[in-house]
Amino acid sequence: MLVYKFGGTSVGSVVNMNHVKDIINTKDQKIVVLSAMSGTTNALVEISRLIEVGEGDAAKAHIKTLHETYTNVVNDLLQNESLRQDVHHYVNTRFEILSDAVGTSFSQLLHNEIVANGELLSTYMFSRLLQQEGFKARLLPALDFMRIDSHNEPDNFYIKQNLNRLIESSDAADIYITQGFICLDAEGKVTNLQRGGSDYTATIIGAAIEADEVQIWTDIDGFHNNDPRYVNDTQALSHLSYDEAAELAYFGAKILHPQTVMPVRNLDIPLRLKNTMAPQAHGTLITNKVHGEGIKAIAAKDGITAIKIKSVRMLLAHGFLKKVFEVFERYETSIDMITTSEIAVSLTIDNTTHLKAITEELEQFATVDIDDYMSIVCLVGNHIIYHPDTPELFQVLQDVNVRMIAYGGSNNNISLLVNTSDKLETLQKLQRYVFEGKGVGV
Ligand code: ASP
Ligand code: MG
Repeated sequence: MLVYKFGGTSVGSVVNMNHVKDIINTKDQKIVVLSAMSGTTNALVEISRLIEVGEGDAAKAHIKTLHETYTNVVNDLLQNESLRQDVHHYVNTRFEILSDAVGTSFSQLLHNEIVANGELLSTYMFSRLLQQEGFKARLLPALDFMRIDSHNEPDNFYIKQNLNRLIESSDAADIYITQGFICLDAEGKVTNLQRGGSDYTATIIGAAIEADEVQIWTDIDGFHNNDPRYVNDTQALSHLSYDEAAELAYFGAKILHPQTVMPVRNLDIPLRLKNTMAPQAHGTLITNKVHGEGIKAIAAKDGITAIKIKSVRMLLAHGFLKKVFEVFERYETSIDMITTSEIAVSLTIDNTTHLKAITEELEQFATVDIDDYMSIVCLVGNHIIYHPDTPELFQVLQDVNVRMIAYGGSNNNISLLVNTSDKLETLQKLQRYVFEGKGVGV
């Protein structure tokens, strides 16, 4: 069995939904995971915010506009009269539920229930399109099997049992459709896998059914060697190892949700990234095999806060680092980059929810300096520490202000911390030097 996941753009219009229908029309049995239509989750987040701040009229206006968009999509998508009426009915019900939320008291649960509608709508519409076209397709509600535990980790045992039971319990289908992103929490309440989480849904499902392959279909032909939003002439990478892809996704490559690689890496299930708009393009195949040496790709992650922690004693007394890490651990705040000197340790975090409390605790035994609006620029490849070209990359940074460098922590990553305002220049210079072979000053 295969798992295919299609992102928001891939299901973002009637034309694209029909592309998706053609792409999945192969002999293999598969589970198809869908995102919400592009723009919908953002619209729902905004509706939720308006409800939270008590702007009921504005929330209602947004709900009305979104409802009209969906009504038009349904009219264009389905020619079969009874299926069209069935989907109109479903869409109207979802929007009634949304309207009823306006004016009620706001909670995180209400927010989660509001944002869940995007995937509920896209999968319902798409399943009826497949029915209209004569496919043997079935909708599997994600909320019947997808669950996270109290640490926000997938509850793999629960998922495996329930998903396989669902698949076996009724008529076999060629194509099972389910919602990405949404799931239940440990208490059985609606939650989600964070923005972009449909990718993660796909690999969690891939692991649960021990799929032959997981394919993530999006609007670009795989991982690129640099960020195409900021740098010209980037190129798609045909192969990456799980480790390389995990580093790139974690350090900012927008194509994949950061945790996506984990579930399939453990089981050695190939993960393939493909472009819905150009299905014949190779895309990126991610497996445990390593192809090539040296720097393969560069990505950048914004929203980074750097914390410099200086021991109040002159030297880093032994046990100092332990004390520092314990503070971050207590506040469940993970550290991305770290460098040390004789009297200080600098590290970065991207989740500042508990920054104030963390700082207060650290200040009991150290002085603390904080810099925000930083970005991590991450260079990924294989054996990059030993590669003869790598040391020269530092020359290219001679006029970029690099705040921290993490070099040698692993064989496949070098990270640079720069001000976000210097990110663009850093990415462009690295592109020229590393991938276009043009040295400094060219
Ligand atoms: N619809 C969700 C989002 O926009 C999940 C996803 O698309 O992966 O974040
Ligand atoms: Mg995505």
